[in-house]
Amino acid sequence: MSDVSNETVQQIENTLNEVDRALDRLRSGTYRACEVCGSEIEENLLAADALRASCVAHPRLPDAE
Ligand SMILES: [Zn+2]
Repeated sequence: MSDVSNETVQQIENTLNEVDRALDRLRSGTYRACEVCGSEIEENLLAADALRASCVAHPRLPDAE
């Protein structure tokens, strides 16, 4: 792993976290609900980004935590 930067590893971990959260939302039936306001995320936004967790009024959060 010596030729892989920490930043790359971090990006992969962030993506994994997003996948985890998307799966959690799928399991709990809140996949299409905005994590910020709870309103439904538009179909075309999810089509463009299946891991998206917020509606059009709330742009992607910059990987909190
Ligand atoms: Zn929202």
